Amino acid sequence: MSHAIHWFRRDLRLSDNTALNAALAAHEQVIPVYITSLWKNGHQWTGAPRQQFLVECLRSLHEALLKAGSRLLIREGDAVSALVKLVQQTGAKAVYTNRDPDPFGQAIEAQLKAALEPLGVAFFCFKDHALHERNEVLTGSGSAFRVFTPYSRAWAKLPKQQPGPTVTQLRAFGPLESLPLPTLAHWNLQAENVELPEAGEAAARNRLSKFVENGFLKYAQTRDIPSEEGTSRISQDLRFGLLSIREVFAALEVGASGAKADEARSAQVYINELCWREFYFQVLWNKPEVLDLEYSPAYRGMPWSHDTAAFDLWSAGQTGFPIVDAGMRQLFQTGFMHNRVRMIVAMFLTKDLHLDWRMGERWFMQRLLDGEIASNNGGWQWSAGTGTDAAPYFRIQNPWTQSLRFDAVGTYIKRWIPELAHLPSALLHKPPTPGLRLTDNYPLPMVDHARERDIALFTYKRHLSSSQTAE
Ligand SMILES: Cc1cc2nc3c(=O)[nH]c(=O)nc-3n(C[C@H](O)[C@H](O)[C@H](O)COP(=O)(O)OP(=O)(O)OC[C@H]3O[C@@H](n4cnc5c(N)ncnc54)[C@H](O)[C@@H]3O)c2cc1C
Repeated sequence: MSHAIHWFRRDLRLSDNTALNAALAAHEQVIPVYITSLWKNGHQWTGAPRQQFLVECLRSLHEALLKAGSRLLIREGDAVSALVKLVQQTGAKAVYTNRDPDPFGQAIEAQLKAALEPLGVAFFCFKDHALHERNEVLTGSGSAFRVFTPYSRAWAKLPKQQPGPTVTQLRAFGPLESLPLPTLAHWNLQAENVELPEAGEAAARNRLSKFVENGFLKYAQTRDIPSEEGTSRISQDLRFGLLSIREVFAALEVGASGAKADEARSAQVYINELCWREFYFQVLWNKPEVLDLEYSPAYRGMPWSHDTAAFDLWSAGQTGFPIVDAGMRQLFQTGFMHNRVRMIVAMFLTKDLHLDWRMGERWFMQRLLDGEIASNNGGWQWSAGTGTDAAPYFRIQNPWTQSLRFDAVGTYIKRWIPELAHLPSALLHKPPTPGLRLTDNYPLPMVDHARERDIALFTYKRHLSSSQTAE
């Protein structure tokens, strides 16, 4: 009997799983494995909430595999050594996996290929995480797009793949040792009281169906209002591959059929967001240096502040700017923050506090369930004005007017900052009378936005003119 290994990574589902389907098409027996990394709480880009969600997704995947007649083998440590060992134990002829969208995962894929080759074991790595990846969406002259709008036009024109089948039956395999399903203790992390969404493929599919039925065709009107359930809330599901992007796209096409003009616009706006996700994947693929450096070379070497006291107030939701604090508290308590508020808090960190965008990027990666290296980096660089936009640094949002515009009644602010719940909403969107706190237990604004805006504009301008002179 010919065996192969399917290495689960960010594709924790049995439906429309490209590599798993390919393995099953070519081999009689497929052994599913997940390898938990060995880092012990020293990883700057992760934290308890996302790992807890992962733990629950693995439990759900294991249960689905049991139903299909198999089980999820858990191994730990360096993935290359663990897979080579498993190949040797099983006599597997091939290892299958879906390609990781970030450079860390891709480096392991290259090492694994090199380690398996001398053993005569084939390694197959598939596109699965995106509709279009790497160098599939190119300009007329064959280069990568630097700007989103033309990328999105080219992306939209390409044909989209339909979802593949769901695996319902797998051949059981014999006695092979497996670690127990991991808990947070595996990574030396402590459980936190975070309100997580239900994990696993079925729960993710329910979220998608609910959105397609009730939210998709009004998305353009509701997406920017943080107090409403106006967005799909499937970002963690795409992050862990609980849903395939092909399934999502196919469900949207069905949902959009027969839409009226304004509904069709909503559908378009939503699909554009999925396109941003893939745009940032290709940015990271083509320019992995963005993980350390500003996308746009002119902004490299900016004099960012590293004031940890200011950072601590921001991350604790104690800045005295209610919309910023509400967002930071939502993030801390749920592992999620609404997109509009992500933009407000990120711009506040970079333009009002002048802190290094990498400090915010790291905090988001530690707290977000959907923490996605490419999208997070893209979102932070967009907010810092150092990213893919043509003329961005002087676009400085005012947190007070943003707050009034998107949370006029203060529902979102009051939900996350209970100490402000009794106040008239008009007080939440402007600086308080100098020296007077809104309430005893809520801080005064830590900075004056108008002043910090001027400082930011001056600093960016000076840096740009000195970097041009240096060229
Ligand atoms: C500073 C900053 C950091 C961010 N970090 C992340 C991150 O780590 N992971 C992440 O998935 N998204 C990130 N985003 C993008 C966006 O905020 C989230 O994708 C969105 O809030 C998730 O909620 P949703 O699923 O309800 O989104 P919806 O509005 O329903 O959008 C549908 C899907 O489109 C994708 N998407 C939407 N907006 C964007 C965007 N601007 N960039 C890339 N993809 C997008 C997501 O996969 C999302 O699930 C970040 C944005 C900013 C401004």
